[in-house]
Amino acid sequence: MPRDFLKGASDEYDVIVIGSGLAGLTVANVLGRAGHSVLLLEQHYKLGGMATWFKRPGGHIFDVSLHGFPYGMIKSCRRYWSQEIADSIVPLKGIRFENPMFSLTTTYNREDFTKLLTSQFKIAPEKVAEFFDTARGMNFYDDQSMTTGELFNKFFPGREDVHRLLMEPIVYANGSTLEDPAITYGIVFSNFMSKGVYTFEGGTDLLIQLMQKELKKNGVDIRIRCDVEKINVEDDRVQSVTVNGRTIKAKSVISNANLNATIFRLLGEETLDKQFVEEARAVRLNNSSTQVYMALNPGETVDESLGDLFFTSTAEEFKTDLLLSRDVTSRTYSIYYPRTRPEGRPRTLIVSSTNAHYKDWAPLSDEQYEASKQDLIKTTLDHLDRYVPNIRERLAHVEASTPRTFQHYTQHVAGASFGTKFEGLAVSRALPDQVKGLYHAGSVGIIMSGWLGAINYGVIVANDVDALLMKQVGAATQPVN
Ligand SMILES: Cc1cc2nc3c(=O)[nH]c(=O)nc-3n(C[C@H](O)[C@H](O)[C@H](O)COP(=O)(O)OP(=O)(O)OC[C@H]3O[C@@H](n4cnc5c(N)ncnc54)[C@H](O)[C@@H]3O)c2cc1C
Repeated sequence: MPRDFLKGASDEYDVIVIGSGLAGLTVANVLGRAGHSVLLLEQHYKLGGMATWFKRPGGHIFDVSLHGFPYGMIKSCRRYWSQEIADSIVPLKGIRFENPMFSLTTTYNREDFTKLLTSQFKIAPEKVAEFFDTARGMNFYDDQSMTTGELFNKFFPGREDVHRLLMEPIVYANGSTLEDPAITYGIVFSNFMSKGVYTFEGGTDLLIQLMQKELKKNGVDIRIRCDVEKINVEDDRVQSVTVNGRTIKAKSVISNANLNATIFRLLGEETLDKQFVEEARAVRLNNSSTQVYMALNPGETVDESLGDLFFTSTAEEFKTDLLLSRDVTSRTYSIYYPRTRPEGRPRTLIVSSTNAHYKDWAPLSDEQYEASKQDLIKTTLDHLDRYVPNIRERLAHVEASTPRTFQHYTQHVAGASFGTKFEGLAVSRALPDQVKGLYHAGSVGIIMSGWLGAINYGVIVANDVDALLMKQVGAATQPVN
């Protein structure tokens, strides 16, 4: 008999959350804490979505998406999770850049960037201050027609080196490009510039373990290996979900699955307005990425001058196509020193990431796919050898992941690492206007992606759902005259 992963689950809840990415987990926690009955359904065998890790023999634990996030995570985690989680968030020490235009190390905050831009890049201090103030002043309701490239040209015309310094880490942080609206850059850049880049000490496994503890405390019914097939709607109102052969009812359903998959796979366009369907179809997915995961032999370490995050590129120019090309020129290394997991076995791990297109990996045959992965590993080791000499002899383990890996584990359409481009946000927010009680919370619109963006979006949607449920309770208890 196959195991029943829904054994003991009720037939009805106030809320069903589909997916346990950081937005799904946060929505479930906030609503559970507010006293609503919540069922959290995750198709994978562990919680976290892209916020995940994997273990390899020899005591190596690799984090998949824990490279860095802004200081704002501390406040969000304290408020919506726990003090214990917030207390483990620590700053990264050094961010390093090496490319044909410049070579530098920075703490990646406004003070240090101002120093660099004025001294090394010789930009007038007033210009730098004006740029920072403009970026910080941007908000969602601003004019959205200006692109990031145009913003850079307005302040630093012809200075491709400055554009590269300002943009390269953000491309990595949320997949945005020079062609995306400037607001997506301004918000994320300013978040980082407030106090630098932070990480979670103890690793993603500890974070998810602490989150699970909190969810249980707040009464959330957590179910793994529960792949939701359908969101059921009647009279423009969400009724239930179909999962593992059962239909479970809810007053509200929140999908943390990919926006496109939520609308076209789980819901179906029959119940939606034509115009909404068109808008949803037009939403572009964000890019995906490839990684090479490397574990050094026990006892081996690297000098911390390598930085925690190391942005490298061999490309003479800074261009979106080059950043995404199969012909890799840009690699960002995350270096996990033994201090990353103080409780674990002392290990040094290096993860190389490069943004990538799903379409470059999707059509490969099994043999081509394997050969391409091996090539990715080989070229990455050749490159890293410049900075970590004899890297091959010092390695205990190496393997690669691709856009296909992300699609496989999270069901993200095209393995999108950061959800959708900017236009996805409006479609995600408009879903409850189409189907009452149905919401989407997950990486969209560049702004609402990444660890902090996903958590904050979860909070926003939890507030909407809480208001809806309270209104329904209010309506149900209205005296009948
Ligand atoms: C390689 C990589 C590196 C990254 N690095 C960083 C970084 O350094 N800093 C940063 O801030 N962000 C980073 N990100 C982005 C960040 O990890 C994501 O934006 C964020 O974790 C996404 O959270 P989410 O809530 O949108 O859900 P996701 O993580 O996308 O999770 C969605 C969940 O829904 C589940 N699901 C889908 N369909 C169903 C279904 N039908 N039934 C049940 N469950 C379902 C999936 O299994 C998954 O668990 C990185 C991402 C990647 C891929």
